[in-house]
Amino acid sequence: MSARSLRGFRDLLPPESELFARIEARAREVFSLYGYQELRIPTIEMKELFVKSTGDTTDIVEKEMYAFTDGGGREVAVRPEGTPGMVRAYIEHNLGQTGRNSKFFYIGSMFRAERPQAGRYREFEQIDAEYIGNPAPAADAETISMLLDLLGRLGVEGCSVELNSLGCAECRRNYRTTLLDYLRARRERLCEPCQGRIERNPLRALDCKTDGPWLSGEAPKLQLCPDCAAHFADTQRLLGLAGVPYNVNPNLVRGLDYYSRTVFEVRSTLLGSQDAVAGGGRYDDLVKSMGGPAAPAIGWGMGVDRLAMLLKDKPQPDTAPKTFVIAAAKEAGDRAFELLAALRAAGVSADFSNFALSLRSQMRSADKSGAAYALIVGEDELKAGTAALKPLKAPGEQTAVPFAEAPARVKQLLGA
Ligand code: ATP
Ligand code: MG
Repeated sequence: MSARSLRGFRDLLPPESELFARIEARAREVFSLYGYQELRIPTIEMKELFVKSTGDTTDIVEKEMYAFTDGGGREVAVRPEGTPGMVRAYIEHNLGQTGRNSKFFYIGSMFRAERPQAGRYREFEQIDAEYIGNPAPAADAETISMLLDLLGRLGVEGCSVELNSLGCAECRRNYRTTLLDYLRARRERLCEPCQGRIERNPLRALDCKTDGPWLSGEAPKLQLCPDCAAHFADTQRLLGLAGVPYNVNPNLVRGLDYYSRTVFEVRSTLLGSQDAVAGGGRYDDLVKSMGGPAAPAIGWGMGVDRLAMLLKDKPQPDTAPKTFVIAAAKEAGDRAFELLAALRAAGVSADFSNFALSLRSQMRSADKSGAAYALIVGEDELKAGTAALKPLKAPGEQTAVPFAEAPARVKQLLGA
């Protein structure tokens, strides 16, 4: 057996794991400011859930899903994205009936069997927000500006918002016909996958990595019906009021089937080719199509791995223990052990190595730990009822502190 993780899967080690935790904590703060509550949904669902909601012509479902038959003969899949499970939970538990706004977030791994490369993993983390039940443009503007608020608080730079409207089912029905006629007449210019999928889903050609670029200049554009045009105009006006800069990008179609009206993506110029930090949009018809009530909705998903790439070179808080406790004599071990507990009880982080080792060796571990202070208990200290307090990072003399006062003394010094 080789001690290696699977291709495209990785261990998150410190300090990156700590950066992930800080991003999550900041997201939780922002979600509570906007009235969002947490949902924790299963990692595995029926495969059909994703096929029906994400869409059977999407890359995610067609090529990237980890699906298998479980021991009971059920066709299941490891979630490639969160929205289908979240909508399933919303319907299953009647979450629209609680009296509160249906604003939910979840944080967790998503799984896609894609070609691994920088910023693209087979297990990656998303932070997702979903707002169900509000059809108004203010919901679109709030959702997008919340995302930008979070990115701003995290100190992410170099981001832009790409915005488009895909209209309602009616707008897209007309457009599909026009676009399909156009694409059929140019079939030989399309890449192979697009040739295969335009009959089922012509819009997918627009965000194809190969055909999208030339189609964007030439293909007919979607015409919005008056209601959808008004919704899009209002959304833009409110984004302006919220101070969110954006570019309207008529080629942004997003790779999922359920989107309607507003779609958006946040990209960073600092990320190279995997430049999407977050993406989302409205899905006004999804809840109903999955057997739930007619509930318009909007949401986004943010890639934490890519966010961490953007933030990793920024100064990070020091997570080293503040103190390191040392026993300088055999009999001092129990006292030193009690001191560790007293420090932690006072809210001061504390660590130690092995009290049976030499003073020199324990001091070396203290230096390596990054602690600001060593607290040493030796024969003299045991007799005097004190601990020796020694600064490790700044010059300064070792001083004797009464044992019971040591935690408070350290706290005072750390606060200063
Ligand atoms: P991309 O165009 O990069 O493939 P996507 O449109 O497939 O992105 P979404 O389904 O919108 O991505 O997921 C939301 C976010 O999740 C993305 O903006 C990205 O930050 C992140 N993400 C998607 N796929 C991966 C992956 N394989 N590895 C790491 N992060 C990912
Ligand atoms: Mg993708």
